[in-house]
Amino acid sequence: LAVPDFPALVADVRRIHREVRADVRGAVADYIPQLARVEADRFAISVCTVDGQRFSIGDAGVRFCLQSVSKTVNYCLTLEEHGPDTVHRHVGREPSGQGFNELTFNKAGLPHNPMINAGAIMSCALIQQGLDAADRFDFVADAWRRLAGGRAVGFNNSVYLSERTTADRNFALGYSMRERGAFPPGTDLLDTLDFYFQCCSIELTARHLAIAAASLANAGVCPLTGDRVFSAGTVRHCLSLMSSCGMYDFSGEFAFTIGLPAKSGVSGALMLVVPQLMGIAVWSPRLDAQGNSVRGIEVCRRLVDCYNVHTYDLL
Ligand code: GLU
Repeated sequence: LAVPDFPALVADVRRIHREVRADVRGAVADYIPQLARVEADRFAISVCTVDGQRFSIGDAGVRFCLQSVSKTVNYCLTLEEHGPDTVHRHVGREPSGQGFNELTFNKAGLPHNPMINAGAIMSCALIQQGLDAADRFDFVADAWRRLAGGRAVGFNNSVYLSERTTADRNFALGYSMRERGAFPPGTDLLDTLDFYFQCCSIELTARHLAIAAASLANAGVCPLTGDRVFSAGTVRHCLSLMSSCGMYDFSGEFAFTIGLPAKSGVSGALMLVVPQLMGIAVWSPRLDAQGNSVRGIEVCRRLVDCYNVHTYDLL
């Protein structure tokens, strides 16, 4: 078994959930009303090991939108379709050291990495360009479905609609990249942005996000179904960039203190991957100043305190 004493892990996760629940610091994202209306006190932790042992506590059956967590799978899909050399002709792989939606590009005029908005818009330009909009969306939703063990994924149409109408910055990023000639030939900018907003509006439960995280921990094979969704090489690239760029402007601190690949989103979602061991999803909508879930970070901290899962723990 990947985690021989699973009941002990369950007991720790229960305790961590109980303790961290009291933490009501932070504020729900309010740049669109649909996110501001989420119940701030929601809190779920879900765990899935690479051999399929699972445990969830709290609001683990409630759907939330992925927001920036969607950037991980979109990046994987570009790698599977084009290979890293082609993909990285259009997007870098260095942390930006700037806010996730900052209007800034690297020295080559490309987005800094696929985990920030500009880079994620670029991923959307690279995914299945030949398909029409509906099929491109299905393609991404299907990848999430397979990663999550075949569980259907949802879509929040009102989040999507309001993202689209309040997206001046993302439009600015898109136009700026077009001006620089950063996109692959044949890119339709407005379709690409639309596709990006749709991907942010995909909904999963913590239970299913943990299974998806476990599929990444398991080198691209879903532990529940045995379905190989991504190659091991694709997952390695994705986890590398999650480690360096996945937690907004806290990525360096997170790498230092937690030492594991993770990705957060403004909905309060956090996906944590413990390679070859397990995937963990935390959902709690109150965010800190960097845009990460306050409780999400706290759960990660406490898990790393109890278990030697920091990448460099065993040195
Ligand atoms: N839809 C958000 C945006 O593009 C996603 C931000 C996030 O989760 O970081 O601004």
